[in-house]
Amino acid sequence: MRLRFIVIGLLTVGMAFFVAVGLALAQRPPSTAQSLTETLVALNVRLRTAGPAERAALSSRLLGVVAARQKTLAALVEGHPDEVLRVALPAAVRSTLPSTVWPYIEQEAALEGVVLVLHEDWPGGGRYRHFLDTKSGRYSLHFASRPTHLLTGSRIRVKGIQVGTTLALAADGATIQTVAPAAVPNTFGEQRTLVILVNFQDNPIQPYTLSDAQGVVFGTTSNFFLENSYGQTWLTGDVAGWYTIRLDGTTCDSGAIATYAEAAASAAGVDLSAYVHRMYAFPSNAACGFAGAATVGGNPSRAWINGPDSMSLGTAGHELGHNLGLLHSHSLVCDGTTMVGTCTTLEYGDGLDVMGWSPSGHFNAFQKERLGWLNYGGSPPITTVTASATYQLAAYESTDNNPKALKLLKRTDPTTGARDWYYVEFRQAIGFDSYLAAISGPYQLLGSNILNGVEVRWVSESNVDSSRLLDLTPGSVDPYSGIVDLYTNDPALTVGKSFSDPDAGVTLTVASVDSSKAIVSVTLTTPTCARANPTVAVSPSPGPAVPAGTTVSYTVSVTNNDGAGCAASPFSLQTMLVLSGWTAGFAAPTLTLNPGAATSTVFSVTSPASVAGTSYSFPVIVTNSTNASYQATSSAVYVLGSSVGSAFNVSVSTDKVSYSANQTVSVTARASSGGSPVSNASVTFTMTKSDGSVASQTATTDSTGSAVGKFRLRKQDPVGGYKARADAKKTPLSGSAGTTFTVVK
Ligand SMILES: [Zn+2]
Repeated sequence: MRLRFIVIGLLTVGMAFFVAVGLALAQRPPSTAQSLTETLVALNVRLRTAGPAERAALSSRLLGVVAARQKTLAALVEGHPDEVLRVALPAAVRSTLPSTVWPYIEQEAALEGVVLVLHEDWPGGGRYRHFLDTKSGRYSLHFASRPTHLLTGSRIRVKGIQVGTTLALAADGATIQTVAPAAVPNTFGEQRTLVILVNFQDNPIQPYTLSDAQGVVFGTTSNFFLENSYGQTWLTGDVAGWYTIRLDGTTCDSGAIATYAEAAASAAGVDLSAYVHRMYAFPSNAACGFAGAATVGGNPSRAWINGPDSMSLGTAGHELGHNLGLLHSHSLVCDGTTMVGTCTTLEYGDGLDVMGWSPSGHFNAFQKERLGWLNYGGSPPITTVTASATYQLAAYESTDNNPKALKLLKRTDPTTGARDWYYVEFRQAIGFDSYLAAISGPYQLLGSNILNGVEVRWVSESNVDSSRLLDLTPGSVDPYSGIVDLYTNDPALTVGKSFSDPDAGVTLTVASVDSSKAIVSVTLTTPTCARANPTVAVSPSPGPAVPAGTTVSYTVSVTNNDGAGCAASPFSLQTMLVLSGWTAGFAAPTLTLNPGAATSTVFSVTSPASVAGTSYSFPVIVTNSTNASYQATSSAVYVLGSSVGSAFNVSVSTDKVSYSANQTVSVTARASSGGSPVSNASVTFTMTKSDGSVASQTATTDSTGSAVGKFRLRKQDPVGGYKARADAKKTPLSGSAGTTFTVVK
C-alpha cells in the first residue's frame, strides 16, 4: 500500500505530460505539494525500517516535511482544491505515519452545519466564498466544482478533505447533502434594510454624507426595485453612522467589519432585529479588492459597499440582487458567431442587467422569474411558446400586464429531464433603462441595436448560474474602437433578422418593433439530428506502476455530444492488441447513451508474466455505431513496476492509431525525472512492422523533455499491427516505453 502510493504520486505528473502529448496543451508544472507528499511517504517507509541509530534524525526530517507540506496544502486549498484532493493521503496511509504527526496531516471529514455563501464582486471578475458554521467552529469550504444551488442559511452535510479549518471538496452533488434548505427570501413588499456607515480607526474619514447614502439606497435603489418588480417590491429602512470601528483600513476582514458595524449601531440604540437586509458601507479599502460583496440569500442578508464610488445603484442594486438569491447574468461569446465554435461565458457579460455589467439595467426575464416578478401571482406573464405563430412582446420596462418575455424550449435532457430554454425580451429606453437611448463612446453599438430588436438568452432551468445573453449580431465592428465586438455590446436580433436553432427546431424572426412592442414570429419544426464526435477519457492515466502479470483496471468515460434532436446511440469500445501475451478488454464493449449523457465502463489490461520495458500504451477507440464516422480515441498507459524507483520516466505515443500507405507515423516520446522534463536525452525510436522487419532513427529531447520520430510508410509496407518503441538515455539514466498502431491499405 505504501509503495503503491509513492508510485501514484510519481506518475500523476507523468499523466500531465501524457495528456500534453495527445492534446498539445500546456503542461502543468510539477507541484510542490506532490513532491512533498512523495518525500513524506518515502521518509515514512525508511523510518519504519530504520534502526534505532537512524530513527531520531529521520523523525525530525519527517516532522519538517510534514510542517512544510501542511503549509503548502493550506495555501493551495483556496485556489486549487482539486490539487489538495489529488495529493491527499488516504486514511490507510495516514494510519502508518507516527501518531505524533497526525494533527498536521489532512484527513477525510464529514461535517454538518449552516452554510454561508458569500460573493465578492471584484473589478475583473467575482469570487464566491463558502463557509460552514458547525458546533466545532467555522470552516471554509473550497469546491473543485462550485455548487450554484446553495442559499445562505441552509443546513448541509459535506464530505471532503480537511486541512486545518478548511475543507477541499470534489464536485457539488457528490459531496453536499442538504439537511434543511434555507427559506427562500421574501421578494415582495417592503424590504427592511439597515445601512451602517463605518470608517477605520487609522483613517476615520466620511467620504459622503448620511443623506447621500439615504438617497442612493432608499431613493434610487428602492425605485429601481419598485420598477423592476412592476410595483411590488421596494426598500424601507434607515442609515446609521458614521461609526469609527477598531479596525484598520489597510486590512480586510468582511466578517469583522460586519460584527463591529453592528455592535456600533446596537450601542447607538439601533434595533438590528428590525431589518432583514444589512449593508455595511465604508471608505475605500484597497485591501478589500471587491467593489461590493454580499451573501447569496440569508436572513438577515449582508452586503458590503467599498468606497464612495460603490455607494451607487450599480453596486447596491447588484448586491441586493445577490441577497435575494440571484447570481450573475453572463453572456456567451463564440469566435464571432452566435453559438458555434469555441464559446466563452463572460462572468458579467450581460450589459443589459445590473447582475451583469450594466450600471442600472433591469434584471433579465430569467432573473425576474426567479424573484416572482414575472410569471407568478399578479406579476406580468411570460409566454411559453408551444406552436408556430406570431407573438407580441410588450416593452419590458412598462408597467402594463402584457407578456414581457417568450420562453422557447431548446432541449430536454433525456437523462435528467432538465430543460434548457431561450428567453426572449424587448427593451426600450424607459425608466431605469433610459440609458439605452443615451449610450455613446465604447458602447455606442449597444443603444441603437437594443432599441431595434429583441434579446435572446440561453438558460438551463436546473442551474441558477446559467443566464447567458447571446450575441445575435456576431462579428460586428465597434465603430468606436474599430475592433470586432467581443463583448456582446450589440446582442439584439434586429428587425427583419432571424435566429435559427435547427437542433431545437426553433426559428425566431423579428417582424417589427415600435416604442411599446415587438412583433416576433416563431416557427417550430421537428428538431434535426446534429451529430458530433463523442468524447472519451481514460483514468488513471497513466496507470499505477505494477509488477508484470498484473491486471490494471482503467475507467473509460464516454460522452455522447450529439445534438438534442438525435435519438440515443450505441457506442462501441475497441482497443488494438498486437503485443503477444497481453490481454485487454472492456467490461461493457457497447454503451448506449442519450445525447448529452455520459457514462463509464472498465477497461482491464494484463501484461505477460515476464515483459521488458517501462510503459505500454493501448488505444481506446469509441465509435458511434449509428454513424461510424463519429469517433474519439484516447489511450490507457500500462506502467510496469520495474520502473518504480527508477528516476527516468518515459512515455510514448503516436499521432494516430491507424495509418494508410504514404502517411507518416509521428511518434512522440517524453522523458521526465522526478516530475521534471529531461532535455538532451538521446532517444532511439524503433518501429517494428507487422512482418517483423524493423526501422529505427534517433532524436534528442528538447526543453519540454520531448522528442519526435517520423516514419514514412511506403506502398510496399505490410498492413497489420505495428509496434513503436522509444529508448531514451542520458547517462546514467535510461528508460523506455512502447505503443502500438495499425497500418491499413
Ligand atoms: Zn456579484
